[in-house]
Amino acid sequence: MIRESFPVGPLACNCTILGDEEAHEAIVIDPGDEVSRIANRLSELGLKLKQILVTHAHIDHVGGALKLKRLTGAPIFLNENDLPLLKMMEAQAAWLGVRTPEIALPDDGLNEGQVVGLERYPAQVLHTPGHTQGSVCLYFAPLKLLVAGDTLFAGSIGRTDLPGGNFDQIIDSLHSRLLALPDETEVLPGHGPETTIGEERESNPFLRVV
Ligand SMILES: [Zn+2]
Repeated sequence: MIRESFPVGPLACNCTILGDEEAHEAIVIDPGDEVSRIANRLSELGLKLKQILVTHAHIDHVGGALKLKRLTGAPIFLNENDLPLLKMMEAQAAWLGVRTPEIALPDDGLNEGQVVGLERYPAQVLHTPGHTQGSVCLYFAPLKLLVAGDTLFAGSIGRTDLPGGNFDQIIDSLHSRLLALPDETEVLPGHGPETTIGEERESNPFLRVV
């Protein structure tokens, strides 16, 4: 298995390439920016891109998706509850003071229970609203890996003060969905360092049972 994560763009969104070196196939999660770098890496690794998976429609996660689709032909997956945010791209770019990236409607949804990813490395979609209404986490059960988007960070959780955010909802998503996963599950957050469910259960101040 090939697994590479690296920060892209001014907000340092963690973009992840997950590849199967035998099938020569890959998925990319959250290509927020630096699309040429992502595409170059895929060619260097000899991987054909099968899916572009976007955890939520914030500009730093979705900004490069259409460009990457044009370069590779891979379809874009995004939960439909984030379509209103996707359509606010100009406002999102203005918040950051960056140019508005070209965007397009997703080719497919990312719905609760749906299975995406590669044949050997499938992921279950967990709909975890709160940071945004369409936020999802991708749970690669056989790999004991969770790609968490901006729902869970090492020692923190996603902000809920932007349009579509809801604090009670993210707390419910965290408790009912993410804390239900085994402690040894590795967590790849949308920003910052990796962690595990066990570590966050133990020490994340937002996850204390109230
Ligand atoms: Zn976000």
